Amino acid sequence: MPQAYRPLPKLSDAEVERFRSKINMRGVDDCWLWIAARDEGGRGMTRLSGRLHKAPRVAYFLATRRDPGQRDVCHTCDTPACCNPKHLWCGTRADNNDDRDAKGHQIAHRGEKHGNAILTERQVQTILQSPYSIVYLGQKYGVSHVTISAIRHKRIWKHLHA
Ligand SMILES: [Zn+2]
Repeated sequence: MPQAYRPLPKLSDAEVERFRSKINMRGVDDCWLWIAARDEGGRGMTRLSGRLHKAPRVAYFLATRRDPGQRDVCHTCDTPACCNPKHLWCGTRADNNDDRDAKGHQIAHRGEKHGNAILTERQVQTILQSPYSIVYLGQKYGVSHVTISAIRHKRIWKHLHA
């Protein structure tokens, strides 16, 4: 069984401020990437009242004042690190799986021409040449370290490798 979500606590102004400081807010329609710790799926993680919560759920909660409860908060932009409430919607786990299947998640990694790619070819080239760690590069580019590792090990973006 999937793990149950914990109820989200009421946030103090200071906690809201701290939460917002970890989001790279850009244009109203852009992805707002979480710049702090992420889980293995690339979603931002934040600690509230001593417990970890997924950042997109907190962003949804702050924007709508509704706790998503046991439903998933999903991304229309397919970018797990994104915390722009305009890109978030609340669905059941089944909805989320259907959505993922419909979008064909694997295809998202194929290349820049596909609308779901969140790295540009230039960024991937830089990652390939960079001496820095996968964790550092993941944080720098707003993707999980697993994605960076997959690029380095030529599992994705293969067409950019000589
Ligand atoms: Zn987004």
